[in-house]
Amino acid sequence: MANPLLEDWTGEFGMPPFGRIVDEDFGPAFEAGLEEARAAIREIGESPEAPTFANTIAALELAEKTLDRVAGVFFNLAGADSNPARESMQRELAPKLAAFSSEVTMNAALYGRIAELWERRDSLGLAPEEARVLDLYRRMFVRAGAELSGEARERMAKVKERLAVLSTQFSQNLLADERDWFLELEPADLDGLPGFVADGAKAAAEERGLQGHVLTLNRSLIVPFLQFSPRRDLREKAYEAWVARGANGGETDNRALAAEILKLREERARLLGYGSFAEYKLEPEMAKTPAAVRDLLMQVWRPARAKAEADAAVLERMMHEDGINGRLEAWDWRYYSEKRRKAEHDLDEAAVKPYLSLDAMIGAAFETAKRLFGLEFRELDAALYHPDARAWDVTRNGRHMAVFIGDYFARASKRSGAWCSAFRSQRKLGGEVRPIVVNVCNFAKGDPALLSWDDARTLFHEFGHALHQMLSDVTFSFISGTSVARDFVELPSQLYEHWLEVPEVLERHARHWRTGESMPEDLRDRLLKAATYDQGFATVEYVASALVDLAFHEGAAPDDPMAVQEKVLAGIGMPHAIRMRHATPHFAHVFSGDGYSSGYYSYMWSEVMDADAFAAFEEAEDPFHPEIAEKLERYILSAGGSEEAEALYLKFRGRMPGVEALLKGRGLHDAA
Ligand SMILES: [Zn+2]
Repeated sequence: MANPLLEDWTGEFGMPPFGRIVDEDFGPAFEAGLEEARAAIREIGESPEAPTFANTIAALELAEKTLDRVAGVFFNLAGADSNPARESMQRELAPKLAAFSSEVTMNAALYGRIAELWERRDSLGLAPEEARVLDLYRRMFVRAGAELSGEARERMAKVKERLAVLSTQFSQNLLADERDWFLELEPADLDGLPGFVADGAKAAAEERGLQGHVLTLNRSLIVPFLQFSPRRDLREKAYEAWVARGANGGETDNRALAAEILKLREERARLLGYGSFAEYKLEPEMAKTPAAVRDLLMQVWRPARAKAEADAAVLERMMHEDGINGRLEAWDWRYYSEKRRKAEHDLDEAAVKPYLSLDAMIGAAFETAKRLFGLEFRELDAALYHPDARAWDVTRNGRHMAVFIGDYFARASKRSGAWCSAFRSQRKLGGEVRPIVVNVCNFAKGDPALLSWDDARTLFHEFGHALHQMLSDVTFSFISGTSVARDFVELPSQLYEHWLEVPEVLERHARHWRTGESMPEDLRDRLLKAATYDQGFATVEYVASALVDLAFHEGAAPDDPMAVQEKVLAGIGMPHAIRMRHATPHFAHVFSGDGYSSGYYSYMWSEVMDADAFAAFEEAEDPFHPEIAEKLERYILSAGGSEEAEALYLKFRGRMPGVEALLKGRGLHDAA
C-alpha cells in the first residue's frame, strides 16, 4: 500500500490524510524524505553553474519539502498525542535528524556557494526579503559551525547529535512522571472544592479507567486544587509531587541530563569562539547580550519581590487566624491568596467560570480577529488526529487564509503546557501555500468545559501566535510567521491577551453557559480590577526561573545545576513561600530543546513591547482602531522575520518602549 505521508495531499486545503496515517508509515516516510533532501542538497552543492540566489537559496528552501511535511505531522503528534511507538520513534529520530542537519550545515561546497553569494550580496540586485533571507542563511550556517575545520568540525556534529538525544529524553522523562502520578481522592477529600474541580478529577479518573476522583499533575487541575482545597496535608502532598517532576530518582530523573546538556552547550559555544552559551544564543536576539537581559529582569525583580514579600505577610497572618502556626509554605500560597481575592475583590474564581465556557472563549477570540483583521471562521467536518481536535477554515473576504486546529483538552498522551505550532507554514515560493496552524492546550474536560480566567488568557495567548502564522505574507518559509527572534515571538501572543480584558469583548462573549446571560457588570468590573491581583507572586516565580536559566548559560557550565539553582535563588532573596515557576528538572523550556535556553526571559522582553503596543489602541480610545490594527498586521503579524524585530516594532510604533508600561500592567509600578 502507498504511504499516505508521501502522497500528494489532494484533499480539502491539502490537509494531511490523518485518517489513513498509521504509525508504521513514519519510519519509511522519514527515510524517503531524508533521501530526497540529501539528493536535492547534493545537487545544489555540486551544481556546475555559478551560484545565484535562485539556484542556491531558493533551491535550498524547497530541498526539504517532503521531510518538512512528514516532520510537521510527526512532531505535532508526538507532542499532542503520543504513544509508546511514537516515543520510541522520536528517540530514534532525534540523533538522525541532528546528524542530517549537521551534514547540511557542514557541507563545504554548499556553504562555499552561500558565502560567495553573501560576499557579492550588494551586487545581486536582490529584493529586500531575498537579501534578508540570504543573510539569515549565512548566519545560520556560520552559527552551526560551517566555518570550523578539522577536529572542531567533527566534534561539533557529535555535540549536536548528543544534545538532540538528551533533550528528547528530558521531555519523555517529564511526560512519564506527569503521566504516572495521581492521587485518589476520597469523597471527604472533595470538601471545599468547587464543582469544576471535582468534575475535572472525575474525568481524570475515568481517563485512567478508575472509579471516583483522582488528582493529576495537569496544571488545569492541580492549580485549582491548590487554590481551593482546605486540606493542608493534601495540598502539601500534591504540591511536592508537582514540583518533583523530573527529580524522582530512577530512570526518569532529569538532573544528570540537565548537567550534561549545559556542558555540551557551553562546548558548542566555545567551539564557535564565544565566551559562553548565553553570549552565543543572545547574539541574534533583540536583547543581544546577557547584561541586557539581566538588566531588564532585575528592573522587574525588585518591585516584584517587594510586592510578594508584603503579600506573603498578609497571607501568613490569614493562615495564623485559621489556627495554623508556623510559616506560610509554597502549598499554602494559592489557597490563602484565593481567600484574600474573595475577601478584597469579592471575586470567586468559581463564580467566574460558568461565564467562560470553552466555546464562548473560542468565539471571543475569533470575533476579535474578525473585528481587527476581517478574519472569518467556519468549522470543518474534517478527520483529524484525535477526536478532541477541531478545525476551522479561516477566510478573509472569501479568500482562504489558513486552516486553524484547536486541540484544547488535557489527556495523558499530551505533554503539559500550551503551545502553537504548524503542520504547514505559509510561503509563496513555488506557488502560494497557506498555513495549517494548531493551538494545543491542556484544559480540563467538563460538560461543558469551563475555563478559568487563566485558561482563557492562555487561549487568547496561543491564538495570538496562531494569528502570526495565519496572517503571514512572505515569500520564504524560512522567515514565515513565528520565525522571528525569540524575544519578539511572544509579542503577538501576549498582545492578544489584552483583548480578553476589553469590557466589550467580555460583555458579548462571557455568557453563562446555561442561561446565556452576560456576566453581570459588577462581576466583570471586579474581575478586571483584580487582573493585577497576585502579580507579585506571578512575577517572582517567573523572573526567578529566568534568572536561573540565564545563570546556567553564562560562564562555565555548572557541575551541579541544582546547586547553582539554589545559589541564584538565595542571591536574589527568593521569598520563602514561592518557588520557581519551572524548577530545573522539569524546565522543559530550557532543556527539551534549544528554543528557550538562556531565552526564558523572552516573555518579559516581549511584554515590554506588548504593554506598549496595546497602549497604542488605548491612546486612540478604540481597542479595534482600524488604522492601528492595519499597521499591526502590516508591520508585525504578516511580516514574519522579513526584517530585524526592532525595525519592525519601530515601524509599528515609531519608538522603542521602556519598562514602565509593563510595571503598570502588572500593578508593580508603586511597589519599587
Ligand atoms: Zn507564547
